[in-house]
Amino acid sequence: MKTISCREAGLDCDYIVKGETEEEVMKNGIEHAKSHHNMKEEEITAEMKQKIKGIIHSD
Ligand SMILES: [Zn+2]
Repeated sequence: MKTISCREAGLDCDYIVKGETEEEVMKNGIEHAKSHHNMKEEEITAEMKQKIKGIIHSD
C-alpha cells in the first residue's frame, strides 16, 4: 500500500491518499486535489508531481 499525506504535500488537510501502486496513489492524489482543493489539471505541474512522488510512503 502506498500513501500520501495531503498535509505533507503542503495543504492544510488531514486526508491520506491511498493506492496499490505509485501510479495509482498519484492518480488518486490528483483526483483528491481536484475534488477537494479545487485544483485544475493544468495547475498540477510536473514539478509538483515530482515533489509529491518524494513524499509517498510505502507500507
Ligand atoms: Zn487534501
